[in-house]
Amino acid sequence: MAEKLSVQEKAAQDTRSSGTVAGQECSSSDNRLARIRIVLINTTHPGNIGAAARAMKVMGLSSLHLVTPKAFPNADATAMASGADDLLQAARVHESLDSALADCSLVLGTSARFRSLPMPVLDVRRASEQALEESASRKVAILFGRERYGLTNEEMQRCQYLVNIPANPVYSSLNLAQAVQIVAYELRVAASGGAGLSVPPFDWEPVDDSQMEGLFQHLEQTLLDLRFLNPKQPKRLMMRLRRLFNRARPDQNEMNILRGILKASQEAVEREGKARG
Ligand code: SAH
Repeated sequence: MAEKLSVQEKAAQDTRSSGTVAGQECSSSDNRLARIRIVLINTTHPGNIGAAARAMKVMGLSSLHLVTPKAFPNADATAMASGADDLLQAARVHESLDSALADCSLVLGTSARFRSLPMPVLDVRRASEQALEESASRKVAILFGRERYGLTNEEMQRCQYLVNIPANPVYSSLNLAQAVQIVAYELRVAASGGAGLSVPPFDWEPVDDSQMEGLFQHLEQTLLDLRFLNPKQPKRLMMRLRRLFNRARPDQNEMNILRGILKASQEAVEREGKARG
């Protein structure tokens, strides 16, 4: 560890002595990069947080959000961040994923593995193009899991897409900060040369994560009221419904309609209950 840190420190010195190019360019694509949020969940090694900050800054990203990190702030994080400690200082620490995602309308979850419940998957290049495109008009979050076991299925279900960095199928798990580096690099490539790669313009504005969570809670309660969902045997019903609505990405009008249908269904159940006495 000591040896690794001294290599890092040397690299940091090299960066400083060769002069920095940061701040020389500032374009609208850089602004878009700055609006893409990198969310690290429950990171164990603070050095990885620092290395992720460095990886981000080099590529022009700056929005770092940490959900329940094991140790932060921490000297290892600062050492590994090298000249990117400003990102660490500005990093937002959250007690829950809810708070880290509340205002985001596109959530991408990175994973080395494909899950048992299939979700729409994008490779890192396609995902970066889409993230950059959407960041022009809405908040985008990219989630990274823990070192030991990645993202949980529940966390994955907060995402509209799963993002994979193609790798050796028998050894596909990158170090956390290296995964952040590759994603940040692809975002930069998309920002600098994306001509002709654009996603078709949206004529709708998808609702944010807090509204999606509100829908899922209301839906679950309504399905319980209707006795469609058996709490003793829920199977994977809610998981499948989440996947369905995450794929659809409803806008505000559609969300209002869905919530209205749920409310009317609950009222009908209540009326029926009263009529029966
Ligand atoms: N053992 C864990 C891997 C954790 S690596 C697992 O099997 O899920 C830490 C994090 O780095 C992952 O949660 C993911 O966010 C990212 N990561 C690592 N390798 C990746 C890959 N090939 N594609 C996409 N993300 C990857």
